[in-house]
Amino acid sequence: MYLCRVNVKKSIIVSAPSGAGKTTLVRHLLAVMPEKLQFSISATTRNPRGNEQNGIDYFFLSTAEFKAKIKQNAFVEYEEVYASCFYGTLKSQLEDIWALDKIVVFDVDVKGGMHLKSIFKTQALSIFIAPPSIEELEKRLVSRQTDSLQSITARVSKARHEMAFAKNFDIQITNDELQLACTQLTDCVQQFIML
Ligand code: ADP
Ligand code: 5GP
Repeated sequence: MYLCRVNVKKSIIVSAPSGAGKTTLVRHLLAVMPEKLQFSISATTRNPRGNEQNGIDYFFLSTAEFKAKIKQNAFVEYEEVYASCFYGTLKSQLEDIWALDKIVVFDVDVKGGMHLKSIFKTQALSIFIAPPSIEELEKRLVSRQTDSLQSITARVSKARHEMAFAKNFDIQITNDELQLACTQLTDCVQQFIML
């Protein structure tokens, strides 16, 4: 059971197979409603990619540091998303955001998304972002130019499995035409906030 030092407030969970466009869509959402929403910065043991900065995109930890936080019970949830690559949501992040009276936005993998929904239930809106096809997802990962061929192969293989879980989310959005997907995401979040 998750024990929080501030009252649990609303959250938005965005999950998708890697390469579906989740980061792009979440950035758009945060830009449209900056006064209401705040991104939950996860901890990870993977190396920074491109222009990523510690404390902005992720908290980049060594595996030993990450495992120490597991022992301290510092995570709401964590997953070994890829072999030897851990990602987790820190309790302190949620508490800090809720203390500001803002709504937390999670960008987590599919398993983590279902886990968070099972904890926060109706206080959370869970959204699955689907790519138009696995072929298009692979093309996007290649054109992003941030991952090795080995990493892309792992992501595509995981994506095939993750697609089966789309129906477990409150909302499914297909990110084909970007502008349309941005509008669909913003509309459903606005409706949830007004509830
Ligand atoms: P994720 O966070 O799900 O791994 P990204 O947001 O990094 O995915 O998107 C993967 C790549 O696909 C990026 O290069 C991004 O610019 C591109 N992309 C995102 N959405 C679309 C779209 N609707 N059409 C074409 N390319 C897209
Ligand atoms: P990337 O390496 O592309 O930044 O992220 C890989 C995957 O890990 C993505 O699906 C991303 O959403 C997920 N992820 C990021 N942070 C967390 C987290 O805190 N928990 C879980 N379970 N997954 C996360």
